[in-house]
Amino acid sequence: MANKANQEKKNAKSKELKEKLFIKRRNTAKIFTEAEQKKADKFCDGYKAFLDLAKTEREAVQQAVTELEKAGFSLFEAGKKYKAGDKIYTVNRGKSVIAAIIGKESLDKGVNLLASHIDSPRLDLKQRPLYEDGELAYFKTHYYGGIKKYQWTAVPLALHGVVIKSDLSEVKINIGEDDSDPVFAVTDLLPHLAEEQYKRPANKLIKGEELNILIGSRPFREDDGSELVKLNIMKLLNEKYGIIEADLLSAELEAVPAFKARDIGFDRSLIGSYGQDDRVCAYTTLKALLDLKKTPQKTAVVVLTDKEEVGSDGNTGLKSAYMKFFLADLAEMQSVALRTLLSNSRCLSADVNAAFDPTFPDVTEKLNVAYINYGVALTKYTGSRGKAGTSDASAEFTAEIRKLFDDNKIAWQTGELGKVDMGGGGTVAMFLANLNIDTIDVGVPVLSMHAPMEITAKNDVYEAYRAFGAFINS
Ligand code: MN
Ligand code: MN
Repeated sequence: MANKANQEKKNAKSKELKEKLFIKRRNTAKIFTEAEQKKADKFCDGYKAFLDLAKTEREAVQQAVTELEKAGFSLFEAGKKYKAGDKIYTVNRGKSVIAAIIGKESLDKGVNLLASHIDSPRLDLKQRPLYEDGELAYFKTHYYGGIKKYQWTAVPLALHGVVIKSDLSEVKINIGEDDSDPVFAVTDLLPHLAEEQYKRPANKLIKGEELNILIGSRPFREDDGSELVKLNIMKLLNEKYGIIEADLLSAELEAVPAFKARDIGFDRSLIGSYGQDDRVCAYTTLKALLDLKKTPQKTAVVVLTDKEEVGSDGNTGLKSAYMKFFLADLAEMQSVALRTLLSNSRCLSADVNAAFDPTFPDVTEKLNVAYINYGVALTKYTGSRGKAGTSDASAEFTAEIRKLFDDNKIAWQTGELGKVDMGGGGTVAMFLANLNIDTIDVGVPVLSMHAPMEITAKNDVYEAYRAFGAFINS
């Protein structure tokens, strides 16, 4: 008897010590109160609506501008004096947007910056996309971003984008989203005849030049010449949009999955949708700014950028100077040197991370991978091999953010993208850090990243929103 009591006492001691010394990780679904759970679920209804309306970077900008205008943000004018509490935004070429609320402190103290991206992997139409083969009409595509090509066959696709005609007028195209719209599809080989295809390595199971989108099959009736299916399609496009084939040379047309964001699971705890990388962080950072209750101490800046999925190059990506120019305009307004503003700024690079997938446990390392429902993931470094292509946040800045999240009772975890040498990837973090801004990655864990349907947990989305809110409030 005495022995048993003794043992229990020892156990209690170790339990107490563990509680004191070990990292605590808790499933948000266990720690959320019923009211908190309701709030998180409700928040995600707005998020799903955003996903359906913002399937391209241009549409995401439009949605953001609509929300910003509604909340009293006005178009930024360089040279104009803005005071604390003023809400401004600027749009870069319709494909990226920066919004800010001027803080109480001088800009020489730096800004709090939230950066996410609004481009997602997809199939872009080639410059000359339209052709006919076997009396079927197709669009040729060039995939954008890192995709597993075989995932993009035999799924309904919608077409989004713009055509700029020779008179420079713009035609907006969005077809395949309304239930009454037609959709499009890349065909795949039937299994009965796939013996040779199966011998290809998986990354060539479908080749880039096989990602051809089927767009029609009926020939133009009143003739017996060649290319009559193509002609019929061009005639329809001309009637509907007023365009000719040459107008497609100056177009940005993106084929994206045609389905809507849906709840996943009997418990409706998850969201399945195209484009959550990284519109989940675009939505949550923007919402955090829109919902800011009082004028922040530091100027809060939210940037939704383009081109992350192809390396951030180009004038709408974050390697471009557009964000630096905006911050330079702000600095000038208060006669602050841009270098001072930048050097004292802090940034959360808001992007998704890979969630632990129990079906494929071997690619991740259990201690450091992010888990579904365990909150927002804080990632000190990304990159591949020996941390190549990363900014690796300092221990000091990591501690600052860790404290911020703990003080605000944010459910958070760490997240490393896969085992060492398993592959890897990057975010926009390094381009911000290269401006001498303290930067760290924070984002939502995702299953099936870059697939036509990506999966997140509602609780993690909500915690990301709360984390970003806490950051711009600090
Ligand atoms: Mn991303
Ligand atoms: Mn990505």
